[in-house]
Amino acid sequence: MEKVDIIVLGAGPAGCAASIRCRQAGLSVVMFDANSEPKISPGETLHPGVEPLLKQLGVFDQILQAGFRRHRGIWLKRGDLSQFLPYGEDINGPWLGFQAERRTLHRILQQAAVDLEVRLIRKTRPEAVILEENRVTGVMVDGNYFHATWTVDATGRSAWLARELKLPAIICSPPLGVRFGWRNEEIAGFEGQPSLAFRFDGWDWQAPLAGNQTAWVELRIGELGEGSPGGVNLTWQWRSECAGPGFFLLGDAAATLDPSSSHGVLTALMSGIFFGHLVENYHRKGVNEAVIIEVYRKWLYLQFEQDRRRLRQHYANSPAGQRFINQSSY
Ligand SMILES: Cc1cc2nc3c(=O)[nH]c(=O)nc-3n(C[C@H](O)[C@H](O)[C@H](O)COP(=O)(O)OP(=O)(O)OC[C@H]3O[C@@H](n4cnc5c(N)ncnc54)[C@H](O)[C@@H]3O)c2cc1C
Repeated sequence: MEKVDIIVLGAGPAGCAASIRCRQAGLSVVMFDANSEPKISPGETLHPGVEPLLKQLGVFDQILQAGFRRHRGIWLKRGDLSQFLPYGEDINGPWLGFQAERRTLHRILQQAAVDLEVRLIRKTRPEAVILEENRVTGVMVDGNYFHATWTVDATGRSAWLARELKLPAIICSPPLGVRFGWRNEEIAGFEGQPSLAFRFDGWDWQAPLAGNQTAWVELRIGELGEGSPGGVNLTWQWRSECAGPGFFLLGDAAATLDPSSSHGVLTALMSGIFFGHLVENYHRKGVNEAVIIEVYRKWLYLQFEQDRRRLRQHYANSPAGQRFINQSSY
């Protein structure tokens, strides 16, 4: 039997941010990941708002050194109309996003966690959740008991702990199926910037990466992509019970929007950092458990709701608006 302050399940952006922030607060952390090393995965486009988060996690210099391509904004195509939407600028120049190859991003985050003495156990999945008097007190892994004050679900859309605890997901969009891949050619005509082209049944996304590679994503309304190659279900959903006695859900495990929000990684990092801040207050300043649970639930709801409304408006104003509204049953 082992006992730590925090167990983190999943070493993606949410799990690493939580681990790093908790170690910065002097809490003991063990983090499990299902894979032996970070996998190739989609989702390279990071909003410039990610910069202060990367600085707070102490990885900004490594991210700059990784040589990811930068971009100034996004081309938006609706029917015959093409418009460039810059992120903005200040006296230092335009704000830039990153096209971050995800394996490299995860490696940098995981290494930063390990450097802070997070115990990262790879190629390991939890087998069962340990519950004592309706409180999550840890997980069983490879036949061993790991106990913690807090167990964190950062397993992404698979939401392992949320499913084990049967926490309901609230669906907030029509079914949205996504396919994705990479091409070994540069996209023409968009000045090296990503482009989002709306169609009557969804949208197509292209983002130039380093080395003349282009990432592509296609979203179709009313189709669930799970059955097709590379297909995933990205129907908008969130869990109102995203924190409770002994547990927190972070990142995609707590709430998912489709990639056109361009906030997936940003929100995952923010949820991890905010979780660390709350448990620091619990452990170091004696803030009540019920308070940090309630504050997190409200915070997640407000984040999700703000993004959901913005995105819904985006769809409503696009050629996909009619189909989006017609197929909405929520
Ligand atoms: C096609 C596509 C395109 C996207 N494009 C963008 C984009 O351009 N920009 C953007 O910001 N976001 C994008 N996203 C969303 C973004 O990828 C997610 O929001 C983000 O990765 C969520 O981070 P996370 O840490 O919550 O989960 P993940 O990144 O999914 O990490 C979960 C981690 O948990 C591990 N894990 C899973 N199950 C278990 C288990 N049972 N036990 C232990 N470990 C486990 C996994 O190995 C992984 O390391 C895109 C998503 C898709 C599908």
